[in-house]
Amino acid sequence: MTAQLIDGKAIAAQIYEEIQTEVAMLKEKYGITPGLATVLVGENPASQSYVRSKQKTCTKCGFYSIGEHLPEDVSQEEIEELMKRLNADPEIHGILVQLPLPKHLDEEKILGMIDLEKDVDGFHPLNIGRLSMKGRKPWFVPCTPAGCIELLVRSGIEIDGKEAVILGRSNIVGLPVSMLLLHRNATITICHSHTKDLPGTCRRADILIAAVGRPEMVKADWVKPGAAVIDVGINRVWVKHPADREWTCAATGETFIAHRADESEKGGRRKIGAYCATHDKAYLKEQVPAEVQDCEMISLFRKYKLVGDVDFDEVNEVAGYLTPVPGGVGPMTITMLMWNTLAGAKRAAGI
Ligand code: NAP
Repeated sequence: MTAQLIDGKAIAAQIYEEIQTEVAMLKEKYGITPGLATVLVGENPASQSYVRSKQKTCTKCGFYSIGEHLPEDVSQEEIEELMKRLNADPEIHGILVQLPLPKHLDEEKILGMIDLEKDVDGFHPLNIGRLSMKGRKPWFVPCTPAGCIELLVRSGIEIDGKEAVILGRSNIVGLPVSMLLLHRNATITICHSHTKDLPGTCRRADILIAAVGRPEMVKADWVKPGAAVIDVGINRVWVKHPADREWTCAATGETFIAHRADESEKGGRRKIGAYCATHDKAYLKEQVPAEVQDCEMISLFRKYKLVGDVDFDEVNEVAGYLTPVPGGVGPMTITMLMWNTLAGAKRAAGI
């Protein structure tokens, strides 16, 4: 028998409906609109796309949102001024600083400046500290870990008294998700790169959370039959394209696999190089020399797919419940960010 799929998209859609209902009530009864401010520094395309999608989701939820986009060379003083202004803005209930920040900025200080009651990412040390203490409640819980718990709870998976194994101890996933499971009375084991016998330890789990960033590491014989497996990993692995061939970078001599631009190609692909038709030379993306910048350049791509930390096909045969990648934990992270912003607005209004 195969595992029951935990559909993150469907669960996220259910939560969005709940958020929209609450937002309509807040607006009508109290005249309050939840507000989220995103802070983006520089031109990193991935960060720009994450911020865009957060702003789009704000609109979908009926939130007010502002996007502060600062130049790459912004000074520490300027960004600190902005944080103070956003902390003082009564229309803003959540502040999200998109990471990573440029190296010259003091990331820890900037994140530490976010008003605890607006820390919708839940990464402020005091929020993490409260999350780790018995009987204390954080203002906000980090979004991906909170999403993992929602997936379990809304799929009717019992946590109380169960054996939970968490693979990974990062500040953003492994550690907070362990604390959340502990608060719900699971018996927890946290694994990391020094853990002996990972397969044997994971096999004890009724609930297994994989957050290691290692493609398809968790195999069928790591999983207890019937266990609930939550795969947090998002890993990009290269896949073959029929037109792939080996190229040599004219700048470094390195060889690389890629294919020429194919407009009809759908799905994930990444530009990894460029071919200069004038000089009949190929280059890796970061190695294109200035003297050929004006030549006719043809982009060279490599195809990829996203996989989790769990070998889906294998584990699907053993687990009782399993999240897919993509479409499992992924959609929950931004959903819980919206949930946290709504909670911030309610708290600010004393509701
Ligand atoms: P991270 O900061 O790199 O932490 C990885 C953890 O896994 C560390 O605790 C590390 O142990 C452990 N680890 C690494 N290799 C291991 C091995 N071979 N054996 C045992 N333990 C090992 O990663 P992260 O930020 O937590 O992210 C984990 C994965 O989740 C990534 O694929 C990431 O892309 C994904 N992610 C997804 C979302 C989402 O929205 N779905 C959000 C965040 C992250 P040590 O502590 O000993 O080094």
